Amino acid sequence: MLPNVPFNDLGRAARAQAPELARLMGVVVESGWFVHGPHHSAFEAAFAEYLAVDHVVGVASGTDALEIALRAVATPSRRAVVTVANAGGYTTTAAVSAGLDIRFCDIDAESLNMSEGSLRSVVDDRTAGVVVTHLFGRMANVSAIVDICSPLGIPVIEDCAQAHGARNNAGLAGTLADLATFSFYPTKNLGALGDGGAIATSSSVLHERIKSLRQYGWGAKYSVGQVGGRNSRLDELQAAILTYRLGSLDEGNERRRSIIRKYQAAAPVGLRVLPADGEDHSGHLAVVVTPSASALRSHLSAAGIATDIHYPIPDHQQVAWRDESISLPVTEGMIGKVLSLPCFPELADSEVDRVAEALAAFVVES
Ligand SMILES: *Cc1c(COP(=O)(O)O)cnc(C)c1O
Repeated sequence: MLPNVPFNDLGRAARAQAPELARLMGVVVESGWFVHGPHHSAFEAAFAEYLAVDHVVGVASGTDALEIALRAVATPSRRAVVTVANAGGYTTTAAVSAGLDIRFCDIDAESLNMSEGSLRSVVDDRTAGVVVTHLFGRMANVSAIVDICSPLGIPVIEDCAQAHGARNNAGLAGTLADLATFSFYPTKNLGALGDGGAIATSSSVLHERIKSLRQYGWGAKYSVGQVGGRNSRLDELQAAILTYRLGSLDEGNERRRSIIRKYQAAAPVGLRVLPADGEDHSGHLAVVVTPSASALRSHLSAAGIATDIHYPIPDHQQVAWRDESISLPVTEGMIGKVLSLPCFPELADSEVDRVAEALAAFVVES
């Protein structure tokens, strides 16, 4: 029996990097400075330089980044957050925590990203901000979304938790709108050895507001200038690890894209592997769209291949947020039709081949 192909195995990268990770931890321990110290500033500067934005603010997670970004753009008369319902619920969690209302718009059937047509019908003068997620790592059409929102005075936030390093002609994901949020959860393309997140912006006004909101709403130390403040920090250890790992982000993304291309080439007619052709895709997830998702999952499992579903339940059908008055035909039409395949840089060629062969051998029901 061959060993199973894991959906992900974070130990592979961590073991390969163990000497440098241990050295960095030693440096932080010796320094005696554990939050908001030199490694934190160095990571904020390095990530801002990588993205080519003016400011990066480290926070404790991607969900905190969303919540703080939403608090930074909401006003007393603009209290509604517009987003999609198929992206894991993180924006909804953040909006609810920030005391804001949520309005969903539908997705495009081909890319599964936000539909501009649907967005146009949802935004109004109560919209505090639009959160556009680059789902599975594929860049959404941010410039079209900004074109819809800016005449209405609505800020746009890119959720880049799956899209670190994705880029198109206009620039990197996270540089194309007013604000961008990132997660450094261990499975993300740029992952820490624990939690972490960041907000990127080139607006000095938003930058000041966000720096204050992540630290109790302080203007100066012990002086609270702003309501809605939080404690949300990226620690020195994670910051040092992220600066180191930033150096291999582009290479890791290219490896992920090449894995997805192999799956795409192997898939039989009727199995749509969402493409990751160019650098506008970070290669975060390899996703198959098929009405036979459940049969495919059993077929792959029998071949010793682990899979996952991103995501099984749209936000408006979650028990906590259920709203039967909401109808999102394209989003709802995708339920039960997506399946994610193993895709991470340390996957061996032999494992990629096994997944590709198993895909090729799958008989699509007609
Ligand atoms: C992972 C993820 C988040 C949340 O990040 P955490 O660090 O886990 O809070 C937000 N949005 C998307 C699209 C994600 O994939």
